[in-house]
Amino acid sequence: MQLPIVSETDSTASPSRPQGDDSASRGRYAVISLGCPKNLVDTEQMLGRLDEDGYRMVDTVDSADFVVVNTCGFIDSAREESLGAIDEMLALKREGKIRNVVVTGCLAERQQGKLLEARPEIDAMVGVFGRNEIVSVIDRLQSGVDEQQKIFRPAAIRPLSDAVRRPVTPRHFAYLKISEGCDRLCTFCAIPKMRGKHYSKPIEQVVDEAKRLGDSGVREVVIVAQDTTYYGKDLYGEPRLTELLRELDRIESIDWIRLMYFYPMYIDDALIETLAGATRILPYIDMPLQHASDTMLKRMARKTTRAVQEEILGRLRSQIDNLVMRTTMITGFPGETDEDFAELADFARQQRFEHLGVFTYSVEEDTPAAKLPNRVSARVAQRRHDELMAIQQQIAFDWSASRVGTAENVIIDSPLPQQEGVWIGRSRGEAPDIDGIIYVSGFEDSAAVAPGSMIKCEIVAADGYDLIAAPLD
Ligand code: SF4
Repeated sequence: MQLPIVSETDSTASPSRPQGDDSASRGRYAVISLGCPKNLVDTEQMLGRLDEDGYRMVDTVDSADFVVVNTCGFIDSAREESLGAIDEMLALKREGKIRNVVVTGCLAERQQGKLLEARPEIDAMVGVFGRNEIVSVIDRLQSGVDEQQKIFRPAAIRPLSDAVRRPVTPRHFAYLKISEGCDRLCTFCAIPKMRGKHYSKPIEQVVDEAKRLGDSGVREVVIVAQDTTYYGKDLYGEPRLTELLRELDRIESIDWIRLMYFYPMYIDDALIETLAGATRILPYIDMPLQHASDTMLKRMARKTTRAVQEEILGRLRSQIDNLVMRTTMITGFPGETDEDFAELADFARQQRFEHLGVFTYSVEEDTPAAKLPNRVSARVAQRRHDELMAIQQQIAFDWSASRVGTAENVIIDSPLPQQEGVWIGRSRGEAPDIDGIIYVSGFEDSAAVAPGSMIKCEIVAADGYDLIAAPLD
């Protein structure tokens, strides 16, 4: 299994010690970071602390003393990937290639003792809210204390600061987590059990973290949370996303602000006006909706209806120019009938999202939906998944084709391997890692281009979900 080992080259901050200089290092570590961008920010935060304390990251497991596996526990497939990564590291430990395996993140938080019972060779487990103590855990291991450690802390009453972090995304973009946890009770979702209740970072703290990112060379800040539109409700007694975004939109060292994980609620005129009139906030919104049949939305406890979702999308689209909408849907939720699915498919055809992802329902044992009758078979769930993806593919391809001949600002992410002079980039319409890409070539002086360059381009062709572009003078 190809493991997402965080590598030095990815790391933007200059390593605290020159490559290969182990003399002053207290130990070498490798990190496997799994799951969502919020978990990646946690990884970066732990790396920042390990660096500060003299540990040095290496980008091959073989040259590491210990490995940190930051896990995901969201759904079946994510858990399998996490368990697979842990087992691979434990195998290397048995072979004597590494000394210690430390497991952190959502799967650790969710399974705790159960995971240790099944894998007693794990040297330490650190839950989501214990991650600030990663250094003391490693110190004990490095000092030879041969005692299994378990660090599980109650959900913090304030989100942990992410100011100290070693970015592992390319230098020019970074995720900014504005809150932790979630207060909603969607019946299929176990996230509140792993991430706790919703806690917003104070506006000043978020603005400070954003400024640090901008000052460190980040051009694109991707806002993440479990529930972005709920921001501030816990801390200020009312949603304060609009106020936060107005503050962030003033930060001159940042070019782009991208918004992920909206919930279809608290999207009022003030928020829409702020998005429509913003300088740096991109006309891009990710808003997972999960379904469009009122029967399913009720069973999912989404506290919304198709009509409300349509009304919100209508207001957003009519007031924000060139808005790009991304969403996520679930097929095969217990009780989903052909009629429910037909309604979902009809909604997708009607709304023409620029990006739409689909999950098949995953039974999460400690969630209310797991007890619901009328399970849908995996075969039917997958058939509906494929049908919805096929509907969306045509919509996405049409959108790509409609962009040929238009001009876009493209941020360059990286050179295309083995293709001299061709670069991979994204525009306002593509989020990192989850959407299509733009191939840019035809530079007079390709040497003048680098990751993070912002290039005015003409879209010259479409290639399915992706685009081909050429720089405009
Ligand atoms: S909004 Fe619903 S689906 Fe999203 S994290 Fe919260 S409970 Fe889970």
